[in-house]
Amino acid sequence: MDTPRARSALDGIPVYRPGKAATSDDHKLSSNENPYAPLPGVMERAGAELARMNRYPDAGMTALYDALADRFGLSADHFAAGTGSVAVLFSLLTAHLEPGDEIVYAWRSFEAYPIAADLTGATTVRVPLRADATHDLDAMAAAVTERTKVVLVCTPNNPTGPVVTASELSTLLRTVPPHVLVVVDEAYVEFVRDPAAASGLDALAAHDNVVVLRTFSKAYGLAGLRVGYAIARPDVATSIRKATPPFAVTDLSQAAAVASLESHAVLEERVEAIVQERVAMVAALREQGWDVPDTEANFVWLPLGADALDFAVACDPVSVRPFAGDGVRISVGTPEVNAQLLALAATWQASHTSWA
Ligand SMILES: *Cc1c(COP(=O)(O)O)cnc(C)c1O
Repeated sequence: MDTPRARSALDGIPVYRPGKAATSDDHKLSSNENPYAPLPGVMERAGAELARMNRYPDAGMTALYDALADRFGLSADHFAAGTGSVAVLFSLLTAHLEPGDEIVYAWRSFEAYPIAADLTGATTVRVPLRADATHDLDAMAAAVTERTKVVLVCTPNNPTGPVVTASELSTLLRTVPPHVLVVVDEAYVEFVRDPAAASGLDALAAHDNVVVLRTFSKAYGLAGLRVGYAIARPDVATSIRKATPPFAVTDLSQAAAVASLESHAVLEERVEAIVQERVAMVAALREQGWDVPDTEANFVWLPLGADALDFAVACDPVSVRPFAGDGVRISVGTPEVNAQLLALAATWQASHTSWA
């Protein structure tokens, strides 16, 4: 009997399977979340919106776009917001890709890329990371064909941590044809300290085909409220807005995002504290003998290969993110839980390196 059948583009897309619940929020080092409470003023402003839940949100997202325009010194039509920058990426790829087109991205990179890309029916070209877990932008440029419409660049790269340098990105942008969109995913940009790192905004100022993705989920600590945005030339921003479901971002989330932007000084203090913890964690792990790639984000990568899943089990009660056969990503959490994780990692090393 005939039954309704979804598009074949969905066949390769996995169903989301939740991982094991963490012992406590503080023990969850598996999702690159911010361990801090909301920034000052956020609870009050969001709370006021909660009492208006009978009303639809501002579909024009006026206050949010105005606040972003202010922050970046660009007119409001350069922004397109959605329910997290993952959703913005889905809208962007829906707007720009169709079957027969190609999209290029590095692998391993962000888990949402294959889902967003495959859903469009376009063909994916994955370019392996280099041995030091960095993007190989020369190989990515070489992978561009006359069918390529989009190149994704994740910097810092989730889950491995390194950034793309400014000179690598500008070479890529001078190499690819101007009709190819180059998406610079900067979900972790606030944590970057490397002066050689690429800047999506600088790239956008120099090239019309750049889209920068930013989020309130990581440094700003609003992961649960789902707000992210693209910064792009107004025509690209318009195509993203058209492909986004109306009323997606609630007024509560918009208000929290605007209030967070106003708490800039406290944000910077917190980000700096997380960066200090990251630097200490990397140093301690390397001291233990781990081969940790450079990281400019709020997480570290352990290239455990076949031991990834076993290591994650050994980290109990700390919850980390294993990628079977490849490695484990560990978010920077509170100092207490980071110390607990370092002790677990030392124990693992003691029982696994004595054979060498
Ligand atoms: C976390 C993350 C995002 C943003 O996620 P949202 O919560 O949807 O804003 C985007 N890109 C990368 C690489 C990420 O790690």
